[in-house]
Parts: sequence; C-alpha cells; structure tokens
Amino acid sequence: MISIQSILSLAVKSSNLTSLEAELLLGHVLGVSRSYLRAWHEKSPTEQQKQAFESLVSRRCAGEPLAYLVGTKEFWSLPLVVSKSVLIPRPETECLVELVLNNTGCRGRASLPPEGIRVLDLGTGSGAIALALAIERPQWKIIGIDRSNAALEIAVLNAKNNRIGNVQFMQSDWFSCFEADKTRFDIIVGNPPYIHPNDNHLEGDIRYEPKEALISLPDGLQDLKKIILEAPEYLVSKGWLFLEHGFDQAVFVRNSMDVVGFRDVQTYKDLAGLDRTTIGRKP
Ligand code: GLN
Repeated sequence: MISIQSILSLAVKSSNLTSLEAELLLGHVLGVSRSYLRAWHEKSPTEQQKQAFESLVSRRCAGEPLAYLVGTKEFWSLPLVVSKSVLIPRPETECLVELVLNNTGCRGRASLPPEGIRVLDLGTGSGAIALALAIERPQWKIIGIDRSNAALEIAVLNAKNNRIGNVQFMQSDWFSCFEADKTRFDIIVGNPPYIHPNDNHLEGDIRYEPKEALISLPDGLQDLKKIILEAPEYLVSKGWLFLEHGFDQAVFVRNSMDVVGFRDVQTYKDLAGLDRTTIGRKP
C-alpha cells in the first residue's frame, strides 16, 4: 500500500506533470478536494484507484487536456461540465463577458432597455458565455444556439447544475433557426471558430478539442464574416454585436463591421495584450 503523498511525488518525478495537475487528477479519482489530499496525505488509496490515477497521468502526459480528464472547467466562477463535444472555455473569453456587461450596464442603459434585454449567444458550446451573462443579469433573456446537439446537452446540463433559469438553448446553424427581420436581439455575442486550418498551434493539446468549434474553412475568417453580414437582420436598432476573434484578425473584423454599417466599432485586448474582441453597434 502506498500513501497519497508518495503517489503524488512519484507521479511528478516520473512525468512532466506539475504537482497541481497531479493533485487535481488524484483528487478527481478519489472524489476529494486538494485540501483533503494534504490533510490525509498518509492515507492509502486502493490499488484500483491508484491504477485509475496512473491511467489519467499517462493520458495527460500524452497531451489530453486536464479539463477533459476531470470533466469540468471553471468559467466566470461557474463550475462547468465539459466533454470532447465542447471547446474548453478560455480565460480570454471572460474578457468578452466583461465587455458585454460594461458596455450595456450604466453607460449603455441610456439606449438599451434595462429590463427584458434579449441576448443571443452564437456557438454556445458548454454554454459558458450565455450562463455567465445570465448569472450576472438575471432579468435578461438569453438564447444560446449551437449546431451540435451533443454540445447543447452539455450546455443544458450546465444551466441545470448552476440553477440558471433565464437561458434557453436551441439547435441552429448560426441564424438558421430564426426568421430574418422577425426575431430581434439587443445583444448578439459569439466566440465562433476562427482558427486557420494550417495554424500550427493546432498541433498542441488543442488537438483533443472539437475541430468544428475551432477551425473555420478555408481561411479562419468565414464564420466571422457570415455572422457580421447577417447579424444586422437579427439586431434591434442600436443593438450590439460582440465577437471574439484571432489576435491577427482584428483589422478584418473591424473592416467587415464598417462595411456592413456598424458604428462605434472598436477592438479590445485580452489579458495577454492581444487583440481579441471587436464590438460594433447597429445604427
Ligand atoms: N481561443 C481559442 C484558441 O486559440 C480558439 C477559439 C475559437 O476558435 N473560437 O485556442
């Protein structure tokens, strides 16, 4: 029998795992927190638990993201279930949530009705953006769409687990489930696929994530373009569009928004100082 402490230090010594990763994986297998592991470091897991841990360690060493191995990821302080059907929510997407809240809060309230604001989250995946906005603004009515039914199942589960009721999830290929000029939103947000198929960062751990949520054929720009072109038909006058994009796509996104007639077009940087989100307002 080998103790928690020895299992952890052996795993870190014999692999390229950090101790944080090793603790999160062992905590997941034993169904306990990291502080439990510290407090009870002399306890011995069963042989079966040890083997389950070792198999997760080798999957992590092969590059499988930690979030998929433990099945959850925190976003905007919400614990979200994730599976291989959804992109793992990124910290840079929290900047998009913050922008929506800031631009439609006190400052934007003059022109957006404070109650009953309707929001559309395009390509919702795990539901991260929709759920973060919903918990911050319980009076808003939010719809999250995704083309993938497997992703929608995860999003629905996340709404339920976090007891969030003001979000509805629907299957749709971008705007296809809405009738143009009939359904209007005050805010449309999206983190669509925007990676170029030849981008070499697709070779890292990201290869475990759903390609259809990451890559936009043929050049990384087509989904952004389609959304910008069609969004005005689904926005109220003075409604906002918020789009996450690649660090080198800001000029393209701003130009496309200008051409379509958006006003107040502006790009914001993420925490790494990279151009990440562009916003615009329908006249
Ligand atoms: N930000 C993600 C990444 O670089 C990509 C997300 C996306 O394509 N929408 O890994």
